[in-house]
Amino acid sequence: MYNQGRVQVSLGDRSYNIHIGRNIVENSISQLKALFNESKVAIITDRNVFDNQYENLRNQLNSLDLSIELLVIEPGEKSKSWNSLQKTLEWLIKKEIGKKDYIIAFGGGVIGDLVGLAASLLRRGVNLVQIPTTLLSQVDSSIGGKTAINSNEAKNVIGSFYQPKIVLCDISFLKTLDKRQFLSGYSEILKMAMVFDKKFFAYLDENWKKILDQRDQQITNVVTTSLSLKAMVVEQDEQEEGTRALLNFGHTFGHAFESYFGYSEKLLHGEAVSIGMLLATQLSVNLKLLSCEDREKLVDHCKKVGLPLEINHISNEILNIDKILGFMKQDKKVVGKNINLILLKGLGKGFIEKDVNFELIKKFLTETIS
Ligand code: NAD
Repeated sequence: MYNQGRVQVSLGDRSYNIHIGRNIVENSISQLKALFNESKVAIITDRNVFDNQYENLRNQLNSLDLSIELLVIEPGEKSKSWNSLQKTLEWLIKKEIGKKDYIIAFGGGVIGDLVGLAASLLRRGVNLVQIPTTLLSQVDSSIGGKTAINSNEAKNVIGSFYQPKIVLCDISFLKTLDKRQFLSGYSEILKMAMVFDKKFFAYLDENWKKILDQRDQQITNVVTTSLSLKAMVVEQDEQEEGTRALLNFGHTFGHAFESYFGYSEKLLHGEAVSIGMLLATQLSVNLKLLSCEDREKLVDHCKKVGLPLEINHISNEILNIDKILGFMKQDKKVVGKNINLILLKGLGKGFIEKDVNFELIKKFLTETIS
């Protein structure tokens, strides 16, 4: 296992630390004090996070005696829009947040993506701090620098790469997250194990109950391990020109299903990723790359923790395969009539299978899910 509690993302002068643990905001006060110095601080959050965890955050920041500007926006994916971006930027300008000040994104991936983009645009870049409050944002979206809003046509297509100055993954914030959202984040942890680290998968398989119970040691351990793996990938390929695509394991099918269901509550991101991982491993088995036994280990694990296994469990309707393929064709890994897919050669052995033909995928999906 990796060191608990601290991960560094080494990107030259854009390097930063991630601190992980219970009450880690309070425990990082000296670093925050040095960072903020005399600066103004603007916190942007959503209504649910404000209602459930803002007091906790303020208490932890108490000793800093900051003068804080606060913006609370509507929760949900709809806030990753031009409209919210404009409102956020206009508000920051009205509050005279300058180049040397700090913007704190306090929330899940929606807040992190929106506020990260706003911070990158305002005055061509204002300091950003990520304080993620969902499991998904703690293990994935708050690090790596991807920011985005959605266009009317497609998700995450308007964005930038913009790294934060520090990330604080405080596991105390997860207490009020609902169980389904928690599990959705867990699916991204499972993805990291499947692609990069067989031993990490064994750890998850042994400790999943304690992780779901949010025991300090286990949750800190898996958040730290996932982040260490992601940091390694981001350091190698910050702008996704090669290996960073491995983080898309399960996402090519998953995103297509999310689009199919209109990014609704019917199917959360991590649930779509879980179903996507099971399809990608089935395809890996069909192509004789992965053993049935290894795939069964993933199936068993998803069953035990309560992640959905098949898209047919989400909806009883007969799925339109062409429509699903249409969404897959929007994927950034499409090359002409083919797509690069992330498949497995074994547990912890993800790789990029180049130029998979859409005809093959159509046949596979028709046999597997219709
Ligand atoms: P989210 O931000 O919508 O949060 C899920 C729900 O939980 C929301 O209703 C939110 O208000 C609520 N919530 C958040 N923290 C809470 C807490 N501590 N207690 C109670 N309620 C809380 O969703 P998410 O799953 O965190 O993030 C999904 C977004 O992340 C998507 O838009 C996705 O595109 C993006 N994403 C970005 C990256 C990246 O690298 N930038 C990676 C993965 C996903």
